[in-house]
Amino acid sequence: MAKLLILGAGTAGTMTANLLRKALDASWSITVVDQDTEHHYQPGYLFIPFWMEPERVVKDCREFLPDGVEFVEAAIERVDPRAQQVHLADDRTLAYDWLVIATGTRPDPTLVEGMAEALAEHTTVHQFFTLEGATALKAALASFDSGRLLVHVSEMPIKCPVAPLEFAFLVEDHYRKRRLRHKVDITYVTPLDGAFTKPVASKELGGLLKDRSIRLAADFAVEKVDAQRKVLVAYDGRELPFDLLVTIPPNVGQQYVVDSGLGNDAGFIPVDKHTLRSVEHERIFVLGDASDIPTSKAGSVAHFAAEQFVGNFLAAIDGRSLPHSFDGHANCFVESGRGQALLLDFNYDTEPLKGTFPAGLIGPMKLLKPARVNHLGKLAFEQIYWNMLLPGRKLPVPNEMSMAGKHLPDAGEKE
Ligand SMILES: Cc1cc2nc3c(=O)[nH]c(=O)nc-3n(C[C@H](O)[C@H](O)[C@H](O)COP(=O)(O)OP(=O)(O)OC[C@H]3O[C@@H](n4cnc5c(N)ncnc54)[C@H](O)[C@@H]3O)c2cc1C
Repeated sequence: MAKLLILGAGTAGTMTANLLRKALDASWSITVVDQDTEHHYQPGYLFIPFWMEPERVVKDCREFLPDGVEFVEAAIERVDPRAQQVHLADDRTLAYDWLVIATGTRPDPTLVEGMAEALAEHTTVHQFFTLEGATALKAALASFDSGRLLVHVSEMPIKCPVAPLEFAFLVEDHYRKRRLRHKVDITYVTPLDGAFTKPVASKELGGLLKDRSIRLAADFAVEKVDAQRKVLVAYDGRELPFDLLVTIPPNVGQQYVVDSGLGNDAGFIPVDKHTLRSVEHERIFVLGDASDIPTSKAGSVAHFAAEQFVGNFLAAIDGRSLPHSFDGHANCFVESGRGQALLLDFNYDTEPLKGTFPAGLIGPMKLLKPARVNHLGKLAFEQIYWNMLLPGRKLPVPNEMSMAGKHLPDAGEKE
């Protein structure tokens, strides 16, 4: 019997298990390994500080694995690609013929001086990239009604790179609704030279920050969090004082990836960006946030990539050349407060552009423009995630990015 091992039962691992169980016959065994039986709907972390109940984002990951897939609950300690084995923390060893790595990324606050200690106190420094962090932040916001609030990104890449911007817009709306906006000074602090990575989106999102009177502190390469003095310090000597700091710690690959010699400096695994096959080990594919592909680390990317990957995997096991080329397609809603959201749709070659996005029943949706329909799309995504995305059901959105409805920018617009 041929053995397929999938590491990780998060977004990408679960989708892949469902898609491949349908595509492979009974001569294949499929085993999924995860250290946890909880699956978190991570986009929900954004809403927990404001209104979503924390319990709502958690379900048992085994509910989403199909019959005919074995689940092993254990922490992965090391992959030995030459022996085609995976070593687990409980001393078990699993052999594989083919390996899919889908163990994502994790926030690592120890990489910034003072950040981990400050976060552990749960007083003036918070984050929302974990369930525990988002829940603690809810309590902090409830008791914070005046002062300087920094929304801070330590470095790129991070998963869901728009999430900190969304938080800035939502927290602005939160204080506006509580009639305390005039007492809370909000600054968005980023290592980038503008609000976002790509020029057109950066200009639109930067404009929105300005409209909402949210200050922008760009090119801020953080050196340390000084919780004692309540200042964020940059390598160039700049200091930003705060009363409440909401930070996104550096996001890195998993420790076992580094220990196995599979990752780059940040622990992300180099792959061919079109086939998702490991550059070094031909029996390893990497899906989701764990790879080094140059597009957003997002559930939508994992979804589009996983569907393209299936054809490639079937070809690889037959020894054929890989037929499908993943284009880096990402599709992200950006909550902008006031019951609205923007939509970004882009790939490796095309940056997010303005225009419209054709979408089945409720579309077309507006690209790069706050609209109610986009916000409803973001809310609907939760049910789509559990009921369609994870079980590997086809969504009415093409895997490859389409130019339909998109406006090419004028020469002046990119400046
Ligand atoms: C605040 C926030 C908001 C977001 N919003 C959106 C959004 O609106 N839209 C969108 O598309 N995406 C969004 N994302 C991103 C999305 O959640 C991730 O990109 C997606 O979950 C990545 O899937 P993955 O399978 O690669 O990793 P994950 O879903 O994180 O799964 C990784 C799995 O690997 C397991 N694992 C890790 N290490 C080990 C180990 N050593 N041993 C065993 N198991 C291990 C973990 O337990 C986990 O189950 C958001 C993320 C955050 C944090």
